[in-house]
Amino acid sequence: MELWYTEKQTPNVGITCKVKETLLIEQTPYQHLAIIETEQFGRMLVLDGMVQTTIVDEFVYHEMITLVGLNTHPHPRRVLIIGGGDGGALREVVRHPRVEKATMVEIDGQVVEASKRFLPEISSAMKGHPKAEVLIEDGIHYVSQHKNEFDVIIVDSTEPVGPAIGLFSADFYQSIFQALKEDGLFVAQTESPFFNTDLIRRVFQDVSRIYPLTKLYLASIPTYPSGLWSFTLGSKKYDPEKITAEHCPDFPTRYYNPTLHRAAFRLPQFVEELLLPGNRLSGRNEGV
Ligand code: SAM
Repeated sequence: MELWYTEKQTPNVGITCKVKETLLIEQTPYQHLAIIETEQFGRMLVLDGMVQTTIVDEFVYHEMITLVGLNTHPHPRRVLIIGGGDGGALREVVRHPRVEKATMVEIDGQVVEASKRFLPEISSAMKGHPKAEVLIEDGIHYVSQHKNEFDVIIVDSTEPVGPAIGLFSADFYQSIFQALKEDGLFVAQTESPFFNTDLIRRVFQDVSRIYPLTKLYLASIPTYPSGLWSFTLGSKKYDPEKITAEHCPDFPTRYYNPTLHRAAFRLPQFVEELLLPGNRLSGRNEGV
């Protein structure tokens, strides 16, 4: 008998994948966790019914959430990752030659353990990499306890539900501002420009009130709702669009390159319009 898994991405749209095998299903103190092996995308981490990462397309998300910020900063020595329990963002950060130490703060130890066991290609840096530190605690609390410490902060969160709601708040962006050094910058994943327009607009407005420079960029990720994903970057000093190839260390990538780095900030007209100052929220947030 064929088995298919469907994520209902909105009340009206879903993505359906043919399942080879269900490897793990458990309830953690924070969320429902599943790892399934699919025919098309390989192993897939699913939290509360939402696809977090898959072996086949994870490289897009993990390169784009990390390398754009790391290559914008001339010396990203100290890096903090909030969330990111599958380890993919950490893997990219520690292989960057200018990074000296990366701390990852994930609230759910069971996501880390499941990823280490079933997603070795993604989780490798969490198994004792010399530049990596993995802490199991609430990222909101951790950030509030650290001042003027990080060059780059990456918010690799789940969708804004449960423990991740606070990771999309203006107070949290303020707290990140304080945890960054005086020339620091941060990047957060901010969902789909097709399905989460109000969220993107609100986050962009909140970040713009706090950071001298706020920019949105996009990447194409097949298993995420609508396939087009946004990231919001807040910077105290460095402009991500001013990078040149010399900023970018020469190591192998599969999606990111310096030309694409700059192109990712060229937005479709409907996304440009979403971000216009004074643009009011519609009251509809279609995705979540
Ligand atoms: N790439 C993914 C996406 O966009 O779907 C996100 C990957 S990662 C698995 C997200 C992680 O954020 C989860 O493991 C979740 O436990 C963690 N998380 C949620 N709220 C958190 C918080 N307040 N502090 C730290 N980690 C948190």
